[in-house]
Amino acid sequence: MINPRIEQLMNEQIKHEFSSAYLYLAFGAHFASKGMKGFESWMKKQAAEEQVHAMKFFDFLIDRDGKITLQAIDQPVVKAETPLQFFTEALKHERLVTGLINKIYAAAVEEKDYASQTFLHWFIDEQVEEEANATAVIDLLKLIGESGEGLLMLDHQLGER
Ligand code: MG
Repeated sequence: MINPRIEQLMNEQIKHEFSSAYLYLAFGAHFASKGMKGFESWMKKQAAEEQVHAMKFFDFLIDRDGKITLQAIDQPVVKAETPLQFFTEALKHERLVTGLINKIYAAAVEEKDYASQTFLHWFIDEQVEEEANATAVIDLLKLIGESGEGLLMLDHQLGER
């Protein structure tokens, strides 16, 4: 049996992870429309990862005899035009998700829910990586600046993710 407060937070997190997938898919669609195959592929892989995250919460809730309540996923809002703006938005989004994960963890500590704490360790580590991944691309995009040649090289590199 899972604590009802943790159950609710995890149900919300399922939505947040699918919302993340949706956001990255929207980003991927933008890059597809620009013919930037590597950027498109990076975003699609990220979207796939987010669905795996959602399913980890889904399966954990089932394992703990919790109730799954799927929530509506909002239409993603894309407020970016340049690759640098897209990755800056991605980093901003990942920081938001880190905050959400931390909030669930804090609740699990308060509720003395040890199994959830252990489960959430993976997500805490994952968020460090997610933020680092976005930051690494932002650093490269800043280095490249306006160079089309640089962008082409980065597009190739991101396609190999
Ligand atoms: Mg995620």
